[in-house]
Amino acid sequence: MPVVNGPLVRADGERFRYPCRMTEPVRRLDFGRVSVFFGEKSGKYPDGNQVVVRGSDTRAAFDTPLVANRIGAELDDAELVILGHAHEDHMAGLHRLPKAAVQVHERDLDAVRSWEGLLRHYGLSASAAAPMLAKIRREFFYAPRPDATGYRDGALWELGGSRVRAIHMPGHTSGHCVLLVEPEGVAFLGDIDLSGFGPYYGDATSSLPAFRRTLARVADLPATVWVTSHHRGVYTERAGFLEALAAFTAKIDERSDRLLDMLADGPKTLDELVAIRLIYPSDYEEVWIDDAERRTIEQHLEELVTAGRVAADGQGRFARA
Ligand SMILES: [Zn+2]
Repeated sequence: MPVVNGPLVRADGERFRYPCRMTEPVRRLDFGRVSVFFGEKSGKYPDGNQVVVRGSDTRAAFDTPLVANRIGAELDDAELVILGHAHEDHMAGLHRLPKAAVQVHERDLDAVRSWEGLLRHYGLSASAAAPMLAKIRREFFYAPRPDATGYRDGALWELGGSRVRAIHMPGHTSGHCVLLVEPEGVAFLGDIDLSGFGPYYGDATSSLPAFRRTLARVADLPATVWVTSHHRGVYTERAGFLEALAAFTAKIDERSDRLLDMLADGPKTLDELVAIRLIYPSDYEEVWIDDAERRTIEQHLEELVTAGRVAADGQGRFARA
């Protein structure tokens, strides 16, 4: 039987309904003590895929995407939430677990503890801050967790029968980690999500060079099951995983090629390039898009200038070299 929740009560007492259909059962897959609960459309943003590890001593949830609000006791009984990174769509079930210990890599910790920290983490311009806060409260049950604590690369959690290891794989955010469950061999890749969109590195703490280094290491994870937060879900065949990883990685160079195309008809300023857009469709509107486009384009320009393929004219314009 699917667990069907009634109107939800947010931490601040405001009642509202979960925006998705309430009666649809949550699809799941089990690998030993590890369960994967799929969000809407295999966890397509704004939803995500939920991992729960049922240790004999401790029950741990990896992130808490929107689907966490539709799972019921199997999620609500978790004593520990290990966040792979800090972003609104990975924290949307934290309000259900006020007594659970919440841990995140120390570089993402401020972003979990307070709105001010999350705002610095996003790097949003001043005009986007209030709309973003309103949006994530409304759509992601957002509430900061000042009680959260940090972990580091290599952190281990012994849950009883299963253990979890954090592997720092930055780029998407500076604290982004893969969470590896042993002995099941399940690697929770988080937002190394292998989606058709490609890697996202448009926030203040994101880094394109770090993401490139991370992508070069992901194939070597000692795993037999790979779980992504969004859209793709679960890979159980190494060949399929590697194929998806290669296509995901190729998106970065495709963006550089597209940026060069955007400069084909003459030099342009960063503002002009942001207005054209590199990664989002022109009809897609969200409060963060201009900031994300700007940061993404800046990082590609840096790479292209270093490679001698783009030249800056010193007056704010960029041209093909
Ligand atoms: Zn993210």
